[in-house]
Amino acid sequence: MPDSDYLSIYIHFPFCVRKCLYCDFASEDWGLERIDRWTDALILEINLNKERLIHSPKLYTLYIGGGSPNLVGGDNFYRIVKTLNDYFDFDTLREFTVEVNPGGTSVELLNTFRNAGVNRISIGCQSFIDGELKTLERIHSVDDIVRLLEQVKSVGIPQRSLDLIFGIPGQTIESWKNSLESAISYNVEHLSLYNLIYEEGTPLSDLRSKGVVSPVEEEQEWLMYDLAHKVLEKAGFVHYEISNWAKPDYMAVHNSIYWSGGKYLGFGPSAHSFDGENRWWNCRNVDTYINFLKNDKLPITGSEKLSVKNKKTEYFLLGLRTQTGIEISRFESVTGMEFIDAHKMLIGHLVGKIEGEYGYIEGNYFRLTHKGWFLCDYITGKLLTLIEERKP
Ligand code: SF4
Repeated sequence: MPDSDYLSIYIHFPFCVRKCLYCDFASEDWGLERIDRWTDALILEINLNKERLIHSPKLYTLYIGGGSPNLVGGDNFYRIVKTLNDYFDFDTLREFTVEVNPGGTSVELLNTFRNAGVNRISIGCQSFIDGELKTLERIHSVDDIVRLLEQVKSVGIPQRSLDLIFGIPGQTIESWKNSLESAISYNVEHLSLYNLIYEEGTPLSDLRSKGVVSPVEEEQEWLMYDLAHKVLEKAGFVHYEISNWAKPDYMAVHNSIYWSGGKYLGFGPSAHSFDGENRWWNCRNVDTYINFLKNDKLPITGSEKLSVKNKKTEYFLLGLRTQTGIEISRFESVTGMEFIDAHKMLIGHLVGKIEGEYGYIEGNYFRLTHKGWFLCDYITGKLLTLIEERKP
């Protein structure tokens, strides 16, 4: 992790062409005029943070996510970068990522990204099977993905990351294997694999309630996760975080800041920020966001101060998601609990789940295996309860 002079910035682009069936992210219908107004507001927000920015002289990572940031347009993108350039010299920037979705990204825009210093493109691919893309109501086809992968390579942006989803209704082990092998065949540097979630309030969740779609069985999802772990390891990827795989030296730098409890500033609707002590977040609705800024007000709608205990607890929960794991001596000094006792209790809770090893101790560290990662929410929930029960 960089020293405290460095800062990471996240910008949330809140528009998409059409909402995907499972989407619970902060994204709204796009329109050129709305994107211009969002850009104006974003620039106001960045400038309203002037004091904070001038006291953080080095920019370490920049991440523009969404939504579909490929809809931003070259002029607006240039205005955003120029605004940040007024505060930061981009020479210290280690990673500059933009998320893009297939089916609406031009070579011209990719060239603009590259010329501004973007060195990593994260592609919302989700599957290499057209039928599965239709099930998710994605706007793109497999041909669009392949075209985009080639375009990113042709403009000389050196890192490509792909998102894929497993547990799609109708997906089989065979079709999942096919998607993984397609991703490998394009020599991408990084993969993020997510289990499909039926978020409440999404059309997908309604379809499940009505019995129109049937979720994939948990055992089947485990087989898919296990397959990904094995196939990608064989192809030279390191499984370095619960949902992330990278070729050596291509781990996501920006996301690692979140996982290691680092500081970051977020701009745009729904963006979160953390200064090492306090966390705060912006309103989610785009019009509300724009109105706040029109009135020279920061669009913050919530905040919390992390107590020392909460910070340390969070460190454990985040640590369990990564290859680094948790430091046993730190766990014991914070919780007053012998780690070996906590470990035994956890194992007791896991009897009857998928068979096998869930974690291992190496020196002063405890790490989950990929089997443990598949049950990570369950394991961290139990661990939190154990820590809570120890509180005086
Ligand atoms: S592209 Fe991503 S953010 Fe946009 S609607 Fe689909 S899932 Fe949501």
